[in-house]
Amino acid sequence: MNYRSTRNNTITKKDKIALLQGLSEDGGLFVLENFNEKKIDLKNLLDKSYTDIAFEVLKLFFSFDESKLKSVIEKAYSKFSTKKVTPLVELKDAHVLELFHGPTSAFKDVALTLLPYLIQLALEGSDQEILILTATSGDTGKAALEGFKDVDQTEIIVFYPKNGVSKIQELQMRTQEGKNTKVCAIEGNFDDAQTAVKNIFLDEDLQKKLGNKKFSSANSINIGRLTPQIVYYIVAYIDLVKNNKINLGDKINFVVPTGNFGDILAGYYAKKLGLPVNKLVCASNKNNVLYDFLTTGIYDRNREFLKTISPSMDILISSNLERLLYDLSGSDDKYIKSLMDELKQNGKYQVNADILAKLKAEFGSGYASDEETSHIIKKVWEEEKYLLDPHTAVAYKVMLEQNLEGETVVLSTASPYKFCTSVANAVLNITDEDEFKLMEKLHEFTKVPVPENLKNLNSKEIRHNDLVKREDMAKYILEAEKCLK
Ligand SMILES: *Cc1c(COP(=O)(O)O)cnc(C)c1O
Repeated sequence: MNYRSTRNNTITKKDKIALLQGLSEDGGLFVLENFNEKKIDLKNLLDKSYTDIAFEVLKLFFSFDESKLKSVIEKAYSKFSTKKVTPLVELKDAHVLELFHGPTSAFKDVALTLLPYLIQLALEGSDQEILILTATSGDTGKAALEGFKDVDQTEIIVFYPKNGVSKIQELQMRTQEGKNTKVCAIEGNFDDAQTAVKNIFLDEDLQKKLGNKKFSSANSINIGRLTPQIVYYIVAYIDLVKNNKINLGDKINFVVPTGNFGDILAGYYAKKLGLPVNKLVCASNKNNVLYDFLTTGIYDRNREFLKTISPSMDILISSNLERLLYDLSGSDDKYIKSLMDELKQNGKYQVNADILAKLKAEFGSGYASDEETSHIIKKVWEEEKYLLDPHTAVAYKVMLEQNLEGETVVLSTASPYKFCTSVANAVLNITDEDEFKLMEKLHEFTKVPVPENLKNLNSKEIRHNDLVKREDMAKYILEAEKCLK
């Protein structure tokens, strides 16, 4: 099975290499060569479990030994606190797909519990070592650290924006255990961190200094991160069929709180595999670069980076959009390269009319301000006794103002307890307290259970204190790498 670069169709890599490498050497993203020929048979999936469906999907993308693939999928999803892995909850206006029952209470766990095992399978029989570099807007970092903790032949370094994540998210990372883990704050925002990490990947001198150790990525630019996310779209659909909410073949909508465009791209891939989807709705916060893009065809990151109460969506450069545009342009690598060059040089590009028309046909879009997000958290709690986290609330608000035909699923990407300050403010009208006190109060008031991994966080030892300027990240990596293991 081969993957090729979105910026050069002649750069091709075996699936295992694409997985280990993360990003193509020309800066492009890896896409499956014969993806258009791949299809799933929904009828055959009706009586299957989450892990069985995951196996059916992942074997379309990876050539691993099937029994080994099955076994790592089982191992990964046994770490979830619900047997269903991603349960669906019915509210008045939509179904909420809860993706946050993994070890760190973020939807990133769905992919990051599995990715380390996929990397291990790809490394089998070689003595190569992998150094995972990750830029995080909060949730990826912790989920990746937890996934790669003490995994042989791997080390992981996570960079997060110093003032760009919630207190709980920061504590989750700074208390991380494992002899192969490092966490470092940077002075800058998430885009700064992500751009610096992408440049480090392409830095051949730095790579040489690492010898047998190769960089890889746990961000959604890695196909091993993206592909497990296709699964829950299909599982949600099958659940609706089994609960008699829809008939097999009916089209449904998905509303997705979006940042790096990984999650919603997985939905688009599910649709391409044959899932009956009407609209995929891209929901943003005030950093609404994607809303502007999907309505005008102009991608323009030249704007102020705003901090919001949905920090995991505070992103102005959505990496995975490149894969979508590659697909919509009919694999036109030269066109994609020219757009990405423009983005790099001017922070801006415009797609042609044909692609804009396709974008409008496939995607809906909308955005919510912080006030609107808080309002929705309060309203849904008061009317339905369901507690939304701020990211999910952004999607919920956008869902309410779309005119969608058929059933709609809103993807819920985090436990509300990861963002206690904003959620307690919305529901209880209190702010000026310690985040853990707010967690208790929120629990007392709502009786919604607090996830185990968040309960004792404030009594855990702080193990990571590093802070660097973004221009010093490469130097930091070289020093950190020597102390690991
Ligand atoms: C990462 C994240 C998102 C955005 O997902 P993308 O795949 O980056 O679009 C939304 N909500 C939460 C809570 C997240 O952690």
